[in-house]
Amino acid sequence: MSTEAVIDVRDLQKWYSLNQGFLSSILGREERHLKAVDGVSFALGRGEVLGLAGESGCGKSTTGMTVLQLHQPTGGEIVFEGRNMASVRDSASMKEFRRKAQIVFQNPYESLNPRFTVEQSVQEPVTIHFAGDPTERVIVAMERAGLVPVENFLSRYPHQLSGGQLQRIAIARAISVEPRFLVADEPVSMLDVSIRAGILNLFKRFADELGMSILYISHDLSTMRHVCTRVAIMYLGRIVEVGPADEILDRPQHPYAQALMAAAPVMGARNRKRVQLQGAVPNPIDVPGGCSFHPRCPKAISACNKVAPEFRAIGARRSVACHLYA
Ligand code: SF4
Repeated sequence: MSTEAVIDVRDLQKWYSLNQGFLSSILGREERHLKAVDGVSFALGRGEVLGLAGESGCGKSTTGMTVLQLHQPTGGEIVFEGRNMASVRDSASMKEFRRKAQIVFQNPYESLNPRFTVEQSVQEPVTIHFAGDPTERVIVAMERAGLVPVENFLSRYPHQLSGGQLQRIAIARAISVEPRFLVADEPVSMLDVSIRAGILNLFKRFADELGMSILYISHDLSTMRHVCTRVAIMYLGRIVEVGPADEILDRPQHPYAQALMAAAPVMGARNRKRVQLQGAVPNPIDVPGGCSFHPRCPKAISACNKVAPEFRAIGARRSVACHLYA
């Protein structure tokens, strides 16, 4: 794995305005925002898999979509191959970025056109991005996605296939254009447990053998251990801890990361210490001041509701945003 970043995301923001209406503008109402992503930074080297974990609604999927510019960022930089794609507007550059930065969605039943055969589905992005006969690229992509023998699948339609096979087709589509960066957004959460490992192995192979850099988004921490080199924990639109996967999963330092790990099911673990969080996730429209986790944090100190903690290094490759490590 190279240390040079394939993609370098800096202080990314995705805010949604809550009062855009005509009435709000003439009444001069103070603008309010839902800050789905608020200052997220990470870099991914070649062949690196970064897991992005957190509760539903923490902003992890919005982060993936915004990095790919499927949502327009509100602020920050997305440096890809030396260019800040957040400020690039020319269509040729964006088309090239869309080829090199792909996504696999959670729901394979919705991500494929039901009227397309498998061959048409996998071929479509190839014909958009490459001139000439697409056949060879289609076959290679399908073989890499484990759809073998390829000829058994080419003429079939989505309704004739299982969920696992559909997700492999969605994956074949994504890798058919030889991306350097892939966002995998909960790619196994809708699949039977028995076939998840096979799909997860694909991502690991793409990283190890093709050097693909992958942002793997999931609320399922057990799958992170299998595929990720590093793991980042998100809470209310921000990363609160990041580091090597085994360190974060085995020895989390941030109190929220500790609670998340303690709640994750682990096979055979009986007398694990539970960390009980108080209350529900706060409304993202009205994020608590200071550390946004303070109303639920079992370790909060007096500074926590006043001052937002800075992100600090607590090891060679590990950082945490918490006053306990100041
Ligand atoms: Fe808890 Fe304070 Fe650390 Fe936030 S900064 S996680 S409230 S101890």
